[in-house]
Amino acid sequence: MTISWYRAATRPRRIAVLSVHTSPLEQPGTNDAGGMNVYVSQTAVEMARRGVAVEVFTRATSSDQPPVVELAPGVTVRHIPAGPFEPLQRGELPSQLCAFTSGVLRTEAFQEPGYYDLVHSHYWLSGQVGWLARERWGVPLVHTAHTLAKVKNAALADGDTPEPRTRVIGEEQVVAEADRLVVNTEVEADQLVRLYGAAPRAVRTVSPGVDLARFRPGSRARARAALGLPGDAVVLAFAGRIQPLKAPDVLLHAAARLLEREPALRRRLVVLIAGGPSGTGLEQPSSLRELAERLGVSDVTRFLPPQGGDDLVGVYRAADVVAVPSHNESFGLVALEAQACGTPVVAAGVGGLPVAVDHERSGLLVPTHAADDWADALARVALRPGVREALARGAVEHARRFSWARTTDALLETYAEATRAFPGVGLEVAV
Ligand code: UDP
Repeated sequence: MTISWYRAATRPRRIAVLSVHTSPLEQPGTNDAGGMNVYVSQTAVEMARRGVAVEVFTRATSSDQPPVVELAPGVTVRHIPAGPFEPLQRGELPSQLCAFTSGVLRTEAFQEPGYYDLVHSHYWLSGQVGWLARERWGVPLVHTAHTLAKVKNAALADGDTPEPRTRVIGEEQVVAEADRLVVNTEVEADQLVRLYGAAPRAVRTVSPGVDLARFRPGSRARARAALGLPGDAVVLAFAGRIQPLKAPDVLLHAAARLLEREPALRRRLVVLIAGGPSGTGLEQPSSLRELAERLGVSDVTRFLPPQGGDDLVGVYRAADVVAVPSHNESFGLVALEAQACGTPVVAAGVGGLPVAVDHERSGLLVPTHAADDWADALARVALRPGVREALARGAVEHARRFSWARTTDALLETYAEATRAFPGVGLEVAV
């Protein structure tokens, strides 16, 4: 008798998600924790809701961390000792990949054979680990790069440090080894094919999502009161990891330009900056405050630590406009979250931001990083209530097109496809 064996037709029962350099348990908005953490935890929760168990592997950064933590029903985080029990700079992590990989393989070896049906790696460091796990376990590797060194290096802020060649090489290896490469936008798909020689048939575009239950429109007055801001303030906000690539300096320069043009605005202007230093921003953690001093805008600028829970929602709601001035952005979750709260976004027209923001409908895209252009765009939204109201309506509508449920459904389709195409699956088996 011959039977057809299509493991493929079914969804995976359990997947290993690799997130070496940052944990989904961390508060995003500082250090290495940002959009990727949100992506990993939100899609893991949605997977588990669909009956797919998710085990996230991340490096242990403290001896207090239990080996296994339940993030949500069906989602566990495994802390893998690899190097010292302390945070390491991203540049130091390649030296710990061997230890990390060995921890991941050992974990699997304690289980019954075929424990994981698929590996999904996030960021190139995890891709290196996933590559080996794929071979040892005989399961497909799906990889999401989140950012690409060649793209980052082509759009560096003045004076910022480029990504090393070893990262480029590591990324190229992962691109060659992964069964499917998930990207956020068509722009990124094109970059992978053009700059990294990815096979177009391996690349799948999956839009990230936004938690529409958490990020909802609400009272601006209440949000302002909670932050101790007057109701008639003109609030320009930035949220995210503070580093040159994210360009919060552009917002400060633009604020200074607005005050030069209209000195009376000083009484009402508030620039809110939520987040902590990250990446190359850690080298000069006080540089943004110093810039605010130099530009004469420190009296109107409020720095907030990374905001979690409802506090971040409050920042978005309190703002007249949220600025996303990044030099590069593979997508820009902050842009979607702000819009979901009914706040228009002024964003740089780079990377995935033209997908995250619908120009002239949900916000504005600015083609440069020049202070005058940013001052023009911010003033158009924040100082003209009619414009702001129309864009706010468009913002909510635009954000509604995205959800983590949709993202997860598309990921599961990609997993099924990768499994079907995986060597040795779908074979005729004689019994
Ligand atoms: N974030 C946060 N608190 C903050 C600032 C940012 O939780 O104070 C989160 C924000 O909700 C978003 C993520 O950090 O989901 C940043 O993602 P984005 O895609 O905008 O940038 P990335 O960090 O991936 O470069």
